[in-house]
Amino acid sequence: MIQPRLRLLLGLALAVAPSASLHAQASGLAGTYRAAADSLIHAATRDSAAYGRLARLVDGFGHRESGSRSLEAAIDWILSEMKRDGLQNVRGEPVQVTHWVRGMESAVLAKPRLDTLHMLGLGGSVATPTGGITATVLVVSSFDELERRKAEARGKIVLFDVPFTDYEATRRYRTDGPSAAARAGAVACLIRSVASFSIRSPHTGRTTYDSTVARIPAAALSVEDAMMLRRMQERGEPVVVTLKMGARQLAPVQSRNVVAELVGREKPDEVVVLGGHIDSWDVGQGAVDDAGGSVAAWEAVRLMKQLGLRPRRTVRVVLWTNEESGVDGGRAYRDAHRADLGRHVMAMESDGGVFQPTGFAFVGSDTAAALVRETASLLGSISATALAHVAESPEADIGPLVEEGVPGIGLRVEDSRYFWYHHSQGDTVDKLDPEEVARCVAAMAVMAYVIADLPGGLPRS
Ligand SMILES: [Zn+2]
Repeated sequence: MIQPRLRLLLGLALAVAPSASLHAQASGLAGTYRAAADSLIHAATRDSAAYGRLARLVDGFGHRESGSRSLEAAIDWILSEMKRDGLQNVRGEPVQVTHWVRGMESAVLAKPRLDTLHMLGLGGSVATPTGGITATVLVVSSFDELERRKAEARGKIVLFDVPFTDYEATRRYRTDGPSAAARAGAVACLIRSVASFSIRSPHTGRTTYDSTVARIPAAALSVEDAMMLRRMQERGEPVVVTLKMGARQLAPVQSRNVVAELVGREKPDEVVVLGGHIDSWDVGQGAVDDAGGSVAAWEAVRLMKQLGLRPRRTVRVVLWTNEESGVDGGRAYRDAHRADLGRHVMAMESDGGVFQPTGFAFVGSDTAAALVRETASLLGSISATALAHVAESPEADIGPLVEEGVPGIGLRVEDSRYFWYHHSQGDTVDKLDPEEVARCVAAMAVMAYVIADLPGGLPRS
């Protein structure tokens, strides 16, 4: 979240009209960079190299949960591949990360009939006692309903059966639900998975505990199971569930942010960052979230190198570690580069799936937005020209940079299927299309190259 003061400053910046000279720079931009943009788009879309690399990564290492061996093995492999690509200053920058493990877990319906429920514990959850927690379930559809029925919640398992509307609104039940339930005296918390479509797949994700109330075990049920428990309650049937979770919070371990560069030809100390997060949840392959964004950024820089397109400033691919369990990598990057943040021209991230790109969401000054919009206009051949000028960081890992005043940009894609697979066993590479992945590479490459090469840079205000 962005602090109110910064939001006000951004608001003021948006109100200032761009100067005539910047209009001139923006309108000349497309002509100047047309040839370079077209060559990047052609190189990215002529084959399925990015998809092949993405499949090699996720098939070879599987999911990459923070604290896991598979994450570190994937990072080792990426670092060696980046060196083979000829990228410069390839390194892993150390980050202390959260290490939560799920352990054995289950949810069994005991009444009104015996059945296995499809569940996934929420990241960060505490365990149940060894024998589990068996209790009557109270199904509610909102925080307000829980407040009204607070007297009924004591000693029960509260289930938030909340239909998906948009991610920001619905995920509040995942992050804040367990503590709200505990405040009402519940002994455990279940949520309907935060998913816009379901084939009885539970979807995990991070929860957080309010330190002023008891920490109670928390898990997501599949949409179908949550809806069934609601129907049972509405028919007046007693709903009793046994929840068993062996989750453990282990000591933090060291991971790494992956960093590699194409050093700028005129202003090597000024940097355009582009990346995704290399960690994932411990289910599926973490291909959509976010190996795809990571590989797209990496491939974008590899193609610049391959084509001999070396911009004035440095382009730096950063694959952040541990976004999912607390944005440790994003904050560590900011802290490690604090002295250089004034020379960070822009930070770009793709973490919404590498489906058909539609354009970008940009946070920064109005004058900068005009230049970014003109750059996006170079992506007409892949239909990725839209620019939304937004007031808050469009992605999590670049959030700490945006809070320090670095202009931020997120790749926007056709995202109607993103929350079908998000944080579930269904997040595998086959959900992505090689041509769409290639277009995401092209969009990131053109945006990063042009902004890194602009003679006058990207004005912050
Ligand atoms: Zn993600």
